[in-house]
Amino acid sequence: MSQDLFKNAQELLEKVQAFATESKDELERFRIDILGSKGKVRQLFGGMKAIEADKRKEFGQLANAVKQAAETKLSEIRELIEDKADETIKVPDMFIPVNQQGMGSRHPLAVVMNQMIDIFTRIGFVIEEGPEIETDWYNFTALNTPENHPARDMQDTFYINRMTDPAMLLRTHTSAAQSRVMKDRKPPIRIIVPGRVYRNETISARAHCQFHQVEGLYIDEGVSFADLKQTLLYFAREMFGEHTNIQLRPSFFPFTEPSAEMDVSCFVCDAKGCAICKHTGWVEILGCGMVDPKVLENCGIDSEKYTGFAFGIGIERTTMLRYKVDDIRLMFENDARFLRQFSSTL
Ligand SMILES: [Zn+2]
Repeated sequence: MSQDLFKNAQELLEKVQAFATESKDELERFRIDILGSKGKVRQLFGGMKAIEADKRKEFGQLANAVKQAAETKLSEIRELIEDKADETIKVPDMFIPVNQQGMGSRHPLAVVMNQMIDIFTRIGFVIEEGPEIETDWYNFTALNTPENHPARDMQDTFYINRMTDPAMLLRTHTSAAQSRVMKDRKPPIRIIVPGRVYRNETISARAHCQFHQVEGLYIDEGVSFADLKQTLLYFAREMFGEHTNIQLRPSFFPFTEPSAEMDVSCFVCDAKGCAICKHTGWVEILGCGMVDPKVLENCGIDSEKYTGFAFGIGIERTTMLRYKVDDIRLMFENDARFLRQFSSTL
């Protein structure tokens, strides 16, 4: 009697271990048949009473093995069936929209700089570049600012090494590239130099230790202040609108004589007076002047034969005025919330 029970249990174990299906329904029938409340495992345990006492433990272990095998089989097959179901969902759906990554956009400084480049290249200026790490000579001395000249105090300089000869520094203005071009080339010279410059300034809403300029230089025979004024008027109208007016106020730069600062009629309030133009109707936009003959001579250009003008436009300032941004630090923080506002200004 107990031998039959052992044999049945052993056969059941083998049957359970050999069971296979891909059908959920069949699996459910298997579960009920083996593990259900009236299932075969329950029957095995129910038959324990008929087993001789000394073999009960062994039979109990066998019944338990059947139960465990059935449970393992059940969960294995369930997993397989679910994986298959997942695969059917993974069939590509051609109508699902593609992953909508946010489109990048140009930085507002790049937008304004590119506009300036576009305006000047249209009238024959060519783009030049110079190194950001510059020698003292190109940045200052060539531009009529020898050592100990008080004008050096106007620009707080980041020196990399003051003890080398020449001293190395981070250029304080794109005019440094002017000196390079004048030294390497013969007139006529008509260039713009867009680029980044550095000054040792305390960072605040109005000042930063890095900013950008577009420098312009035109040297040829007979270049006059009238040419400068006409070029800048053309620029102002292209940049800020055809009704823009300009005014030039006398100023001082070591490398130009005479020097001037240029205002444009306020494009925010149409020169009627607002907070941006401090109710004057004018906003200052750039510095300019006729290249000092001494600068020409420093760079090996005959100042008797040639004259020229130069100007430097602050890109941050123009950008801030154009888009009414009141804190220069926003330009360098790469805050996507700020930059996203310019995504339509490609
Ligand atoms: Zn205004």
